[in-house]
Amino acid sequence: MHLKYSRQAAREAAKPPSRRSKHSVDFQPFPHIVTNSVSGEQTTGFPFSERSRAFRDRFFAQAADADWLDWRWQLRNRIKSLAELDRIFELSADERQAVAQRSGALPMGVTPYYASLMSLDDPSQGLRRTHIPVGDEFVKTPGEADDPLGEDHDAAVPGLVHRYPDRVLFLATGFCSTYCRYCTRSRMVGEPGGEYEFSRSQWERALEYIAAHAEIRDVLISGGDPLTLSDERLDYLLGRLRAISHVEFIRIGTKVPVVLPMRITPSLTAILKKHHPLWMSIHFTHPDELTPEVTESTARLADAGVPLGSQTVLLKGVNDDIAIIKPLMHGLLKRRVKPYYLYQCDPITGSSHFRTPVASGLEIIEGLRGHTTGYASPTFVIDAPGGGGKIPLSPDYIVGRDGDDLILRNYEGGEYRYSDAGGTVGAFQTVDGKLS
Ligand code: SF4
Repeated sequence: MHLKYSRQAAREAAKPPSRRSKHSVDFQPFPHIVTNSVSGEQTTGFPFSERSRAFRDRFFAQAADADWLDWRWQLRNRIKSLAELDRIFELSADERQAVAQRSGALPMGVTPYYASLMSLDDPSQGLRRTHIPVGDEFVKTPGEADDPLGEDHDAAVPGLVHRYPDRVLFLATGFCSTYCRYCTRSRMVGEPGGEYEFSRSQWERALEYIAAHAEIRDVLISGGDPLTLSDERLDYLLGRLRAISHVEFIRIGTKVPVVLPMRITPSLTAILKKHHPLWMSIHFTHPDELTPEVTESTARLADAGVPLGSQTVLLKGVNDDIAIIKPLMHGLLKRRVKPYYLYQCDPITGSSHFRTPVASGLEIIEGLRGHTTGYASPTFVIDAPGGGGKIPLSPDYIVGRDGDDLILRNYEGGEYRYSDAGGTVGAFQTVDGKLS
């Protein structure tokens, strides 16, 4: 079966319900099957939201439904230049100048799908700020560095970071479908053939290293974005890792299910299923990302038995507000994604306009913990500069100590006593080193 929506139906669907023709059939974006006009590949049941459809009709009118829903079409048609941005967005003078001036690491690139979620005329909209450069990107402040986490220092072989004894970070590619302006790895992503060249021979050296180190039980595959690799290459890498008997646990870190959701094809999920236990950490930023397409991409992954966790970077003026983070966490739970980490933004060069005071993260955690489902609370962490690893931060619920009683406060500020005979937690140290 090959169903294709007509442009007229799409235009009808883009109207508010009150303005639709009396005779139009209520728009049902899925389930349907679309066939790619070039490859012939069929995509079943993938939604095409009204917002994205209206954007496609306006800016990529030549693209059939099957093209838009083909992840390779999305990659081929990424918005990468000032001229392409200008064709779509009403750019501010600051954005225009920053895009024109940009050079060196961290290219600009946005999939048409993800661009469809951005405001066309408001440079302050969250998702737009995370992907379209501004002049602040060129301001370097004290404490910032190109490699703030010291990953290069901990590289056992090129592309393999071995910092903790039992686990490694496998940088499988330098390519991403979209480039986040606050990327911790902005020094290496998007520069094929540059200083950080990713190649098959590099993979082999990394695999040899893992095979030779029996203490490595956990491999996190990241990059760049590993889900931009072809099915064949990903299957090969996962298969090679699975063949190493001491590797118990494989994780993939990715933003693809959010910015390129149509990449989660039945053939990809079939591959992932072959290599269990396989976990996935998905990079989410804002509730605006929780579209019907993302509902489908996460459902496909969850149905393939992949446990899903989220990672969110706290960004000033984008999501540093409980009124934004709470609906995001709730939306993730509804999509079977466990909120996992909330990150303080790393001090990457040119990121000061994104960084929040540490107190903001603590306030947000305090606004979640106890006020909503426990599963909705991620762990707030600072990735310690210089390679210290993730350090969890939590609001302080210990008020003090009264003899054998530990005094605690709950989420509403009420004080409670817990009998902790002989304990020292909550006691204050006096100048002579004794505990009060
Ligand atoms: S998707 Fe991840 S690796 Fe790629 S630019 Fe964004 S933060 Fe960096």
